Parts: sequence; structure tokens; C-alpha cells
Amino acid sequence: MKLGFIGVGNMGGPMCRNLIKKDFQVAVYDLNPEAVARCTKLGATTAKSAQEIAAQSDVVFTSLPGPAEIEAVALGKGGILEGAHPGMVYVDLSTDSPSLARRLAAEFDKRGIPMLDAPVSGGVTGAEAGTVSVIVGGPKEVYDQVMPMFQAIGKNVYHMGDHGAGCIAKLVNNMLSFINFSALSEGMMLGVKAGVDPKKLLDVISTSSGNSNAVTKISRKVFTGNYKAEFALDLAHKDLRLALQLGDEQGVPLMFGGLLVNLMRNARAKGFGTLDSSAMMRLLEEAMQTQIRA
Ligand code: NAD
Repeated sequence: MKLGFIGVGNMGGPMCRNLIKKDFQVAVYDLNPEAVARCTKLGATTAKSAQEIAAQSDVVFTSLPGPAEIEAVALGKGGILEGAHPGMVYVDLSTDSPSLARRLAAEFDKRGIPMLDAPVSGGVTGAEAGTVSVIVGGPKEVYDQVMPMFQAIGKNVYHMGDHGAGCIAKLVNNMLSFINFSALSEGMMLGVKAGVDPKKLLDVISTSSGNSNAVTKISRKVFTGNYKAEFALDLAHKDLRLALQLGDEQGVPLMFGGLLVNLMRNARAKGFGTLDSSAMMRLLEEAMQTQIRA
């Protein structure tokens, strides 16, 4: 089984390396040569374009920033569709818009190539440990076919329904995750300004009704003041905008999501876009002239 992997950045890189470690034969392509080198060191081969990768692979994975890059790599000149051949499967692990996922699936289907949208959750730590959740939309028989590769990169694998269903579930999850983190930042600032020790406060919340993934996982990294991007704020903003777009299409009010996208705009205007998404916390820290270190 020959695999192709396009986009080997923060998430794609470790997922690709897990496939290599599980003895899959993998060819990689990325615009960033250093990212490619981290995979070829472990035995991957490389190619000059996404088209070349597709031409030599049975299953092609992508892990790209967002809809613009996904569409260009999948359908553009020198892209996957140009190298696609009967028997190939295309799996997009990026967080994409459900509407683009459906459109791509239709374009690939015209050439007899099945596609899955399979965004992942679990961050860089989960990608490195091979424990991400893989959230899949598309035909069940194709999902079953790709399962051994999903199990090489993830722990929990879900079939959500038809094309786009994986993206829908992922966007809902991420919107909740951002809202939870933002709420935690406010709570922590309130407690700290009012004189409580932040470490003790986190201990209390983590065993009480205010607990969330933001408390147990994200906070331990964020409240060190390290905002180096593992999940860039620009990408989080992209995800939230896609969730709001879905809300618009469905006529669903997204009050908290709407508030948050404006906070993210503020943070990006301050130049925090390439920092970690948790750098939103810095807005509050700067406004209150208080740092939270726990
Ligand atoms: P990243 O920017 O670290 O990696 C993206 C990679 O794609 C880069 O190496 C870049 O060079 C490459 N790339 C961009 N355009 C390309 C093109 N035209 N051809 C070939 N390569 C190209 O981003 P990431 O954090 O790894 O995120 C990838 C996807 O996974 C995004 O959709 C993101 O929303 C999603 N995601 C990220 C996280 C996280 O914690 N970082 C978690 C879950 C999901």
C-alpha cells in the first residue's frame, strides 16, 4: 500500500511520521523543505508536486491550513486530481468547510475517485502520540478501507455520515473548545485580580463543575506565558469563521461564537495571528496589566 502525504506541518508532520513508523510506504510533499526533511529522515520519499504524489499513491492524505490551500492542492494545476488514477482514495485531514468538502467529493467522484473528509482533533501532542480523534464523513466502505491508516494516527475514529459530516462535527467541537478557553481566561483573571493563587484556583476548577478540556489540557501550557504556535490563532480564526458560516447557512444563532470571533479579530489586529491560539489570553492580560502564571 503506497501512501501520499501533502502538508507535513504541525499536525501533518507527526501524523505522517506515525504512518512511516507503522511501516507504511509514504511519499511526502510540502512547500516547506524543512518539514519535508523531517519525514524523509525517517524513510519517506518525496516528489515535486501534489500531482506526482497522487500518481504514485493508493491513498493520498492532505493536512493543509484551510479551504483556499485545500482547493488549490486538490483541484488546481499540478494538483491531486491531475495525478489521480482508478483505485486511488483521497482523504483530507484538514479542517475544511463542509461545503468545499462536498464539492471536492463531487469533483473526484466524476473521475471515479472516492474521497473522505477526516479532520482530526487532539493538537500536536495528540498527533505526536498517535491519539488524535479522526472525525470522518464519506462512504462507509471507503472509511472501512482506510481504517488501518486512521488507527495508525488516531485513537478514536468516528464515522459521522456522508461527505461534509466530519467537517461539521469538527467545527462544532472547535467552536466549543475556543469558547471554553475564553471563558476560562475570564474566570482566571477574575480570581487572580481578586487575590487567589492561580495554581490553587486551577486545581479547584479541574475537580469542580467549571472543569473542561481547556482547564485540564490547555491551561497547563498557556499559563506559562509560552505562546509559540502549536495551533496558530490564524487557524483557530479560520475554524471559527467556518463555524459561523455554517450557522449562517443553517439559520442557527451563535451568540458566543460571534463574541469570540471579534475577540480573535482584536488579537489578530495586535499581531498575535501567528502565535498560538491561546494568545487570545494576552488581550485580557494586557488590558488588566496582569499576567496569569500557574
Ligand atoms: P501548519 O501551518 O503547521 O501546516 C500546514 C502545512 O501545509 C505547512 O507545512 C505548509 O507549508 C503546507 N502547505 C501550505 N500550502 C501548501 C501547498 N499549496 N502545497 C503543499 N503544502 C502546503 O498547520 P497545522 O497546524 O499543521 O494545521 C493543518 C490543518 O490541521 C489545518 O486545517 C488545521 O486547522 C488543522 N488542525 C490543526 C491542529 C493544531 O493543533 N495545529 C489541530 C487539529 C486540526
